[in-house]
Order: sequence, then C-alpha cells, then structure tokens
Amino acid sequence: MIELSHIEKRFGEAVILNDIRIAMPEGSVTALVGPSGGGKSTLLRCINLLEIPTAGNLKLGEETLRFTPGQKTPWAAIQRIRRQTGMVFQNFQLFPHRTALENVMEGLVTVLKWPKDKAKARAMELLTKVGMAHKADAWPTTLSGGQQQRVAIARALAPSPRVLLCDEPTSALDPELAAEVVDVLAKLASEGTTMVMATHDLRLASSIANRVIFLEAGRVVEAGSSADIFQTPREERTRRFVASVT
Ligand code: ATP
Ligand code: MG
Repeated sequence: MIELSHIEKRFGEAVILNDIRIAMPEGSVTALVGPSGGGKSTLLRCINLLEIPTAGNLKLGEETLRFTPGQKTPWAAIQRIRRQTGMVFQNFQLFPHRTALENVMEGLVTVLKWPKDKAKARAMELLTKVGMAHKADAWPTTLSGGQQQRVAIARALAPSPRVLLCDEPTSALDPELAAEVVDVLAKLASEGTTMVMATHDLRLASSIANRVIFLEAGRVVEAGSSADIFQTPREERTRRFVASVT
C-alpha cells in the first residue's frame, strides 16, 4: 500500500501540491491526468522523494515518513523509500554507453552489489518479459524509442520495487511505438505490478488504470474508475478537460 496524506509541496511561496490524499493498494494501477502544470510529475517525484514534500505523510510498505516544514528528512529514510520505487521517464534516459543488458544490470551491480552473473540472469529475465531479449547486446542509439522505453521499464523493475512510477511513458513515441509500450505496461498490470503513471494518453489511462485521478493546480479535483472520470465525470472541470482531449 502507498498512502499519501495531506501531502503538500511548495517551491518558495508557490503551492504546487495542496493537501493530496491518495491511497494506492498493492497491485493497483493509478493514472494521474490533468492539464499541463497541474502537478502530476511533482506528485510522482514526491513519491520517490526526488522532491521532498514540505508537509504531510508518505507511507510506502513498512516505511512511514512525516514531513514537517523546516525539518530535514533523514537521508537513510529517503534511501529506503527510493529503493522501493522504480521510475520510467518520458525520454527513456538509458545510459548511452551501456548495452541494453548492461542498462538493466547497472543498478543491481553498482547499488545493490549483486554478483555479475546473478544480475545478468535477472536482467535477461526482465528483457524477456518486455520482449527485448533479442536486443540484449544492442546500444541504446540503435533501438527505436519504443524499444528503448521497454529496456527502461526492465531497468526500473530490476531491483523488484514495490511500485513502478511512470512519467508520460508514451508521450515521446509515435502511436505504433507507444502501443508496444502500452502492451508491456498492460501485461505488467495484469501480473499485479503496482503502478502510478502520469499521462496525457487517455487511452493508456483508461485501458490499464483501475483508478484515475484528475489533478489540477496541485489539487485532486476528482478521483474514480476510468469509467467514472472519462464517461461520467461529476465535476464540471473534469468534464471540460475530458472533452478537450478526446
Ligand atoms: P505536464 O503535464 O506539463 O508534464 P505536470 O502536471 O507534470 O505538467 P509539474 O511538472 O508537476 O506539472 O509542475 C507543476 C507546477 O510546479 C508547475 O507550475 C511548475 O512550473 C512547477 N514546478 C515544477 N518543478 C519546479 C521547481 N523545481 N521549482 C519551481 N517550480 C516548479
Ligand atoms: Mg509532467
């Protein structure tokens, strides 16, 4: 279970996230949707603590952190949370001088200090899962965007994180390549991977998310099933947003 309660993030005077309360059960897929600048990426970054919330509580598995303005969060606690999360970015961000296989092995070897043969076996297992085993020895620049993103997903999953965070995983891709990535994410979802994804792709959101959260100006305007949000939104603001993007 991931639980955010009363999470607030300020940059200086600006309140970017305001009283966010979301509970995400194990095995659930949550899509964050809403207009640009609404706080989707910041919210993902507040879950893996790339940004430290200015107030509120974050519970991830056994770990609970309370954020208090002006109080420093212990580094060891930040590390423990980060190790339970995997992140996938819009622009893949593979290491350019590492092969696909080495990209997936990297964190296991350098951070978790796994022996190389064990890391390699785990990496091959994940490349197989995302349909990229045949490209294990390829350099990132020789792969299509969809292939790079599938390797990035394998890399994020390598240390068996409790949650996979995806920030616009298909936004940089042509529809056909985006579809490859959606298929992989759908398969992971069906296998019970807990995921939180920010996306502009309402097809992606409605096809794999159990729960959709509409975020605007740092607030949760409305949350529900994808049918609730996309077909029968309660809030006028959600209705206008859905109409504008479909
Ligand atoms: P998009 O759909 O364009 O990706 P988003 O919903 O992901 O948008 P965020 O990137 O989370 O939105 O940004 C939310 C707000 O926070 C924006 O107004 C942005 O300018 C602001 N913001 C984000 N990071 C910082 C930062 N490091 N310093 C100051 N303001 C920031
Ligand atoms: Mg964003």
